[in-house]
Amino acid sequence: HPTIGVLAVQGDVREHVRALESAGATAIPVRRPSEVAAIDGLVIPGGESTTMDKLCRIFELRDPLVERLHAGLPAYGSCAGMIMLAERILDGHRDQQTLGGLDITVRRNAFGRQVDSFEEDLRIRELGPEPVRAVFIRAPWVEEVGEGVQVLASVHVGGADHPVAVRQGNLVATSFHPEVTGDHRFHQLFVDIVRHA
Ligand code: GLN
Repeated sequence: HPTIGVLAVQGDVREHVRALESAGATAIPVRRPSEVAAIDGLVIPGGESTTMDKLCRIFELRDPLVERLHAGLPAYGSCAGMIMLAERILDGHRDQQTLGGLDITVRRNAFGRQVDSFEEDLRIRELGPEPVRAVFIRAPWVEEVGEGVQVLASVHVGGADHPVAVRQGNLVATSFHPEVTGDHRFHQLFVDIVRHA
């Protein structure tokens, strides 16, 4: 089994640990710098990206994580995790930093206050014909993608398509939360990526 770390400073860590284990990985929470060396892949959960950013710096996880991401560590970020993996951020908090890696610009809380949370069925070719129930909670969307980034799914809002699932090599990110639905195909995709990395 590949060992996949779940960044465990804040957010819905336990749901990701469960989903990863159902998908055939050994999942460990990552709270200490020494734990960063032991993982074959990283999941960054949903939660609050400003808090996650602060705690990463306080717990001295930021530098080792950035280093491993630079060196090609496979990573999957959902919601706040997508923000953490993005190279660029719009409507971020003052001083907010991301870990980076994914050549995208994310817009934080992009769907606005009126649509705090919603659900939608998305078709994602890589996951087969069955639609994915996507749960959005104060979610970001992807405003811009770099050349090497593949858009896996988009949501149509205000007359435009906004990417909500992307992949760039061994990095994947979703604006939504597959860890809360019991459908583990997204985690399965990531575990396969880690296996073949
Ligand atoms: N709005 C949160 C943020 O900016 C993300 C919400 C979530 O992860 N469900 O970090």
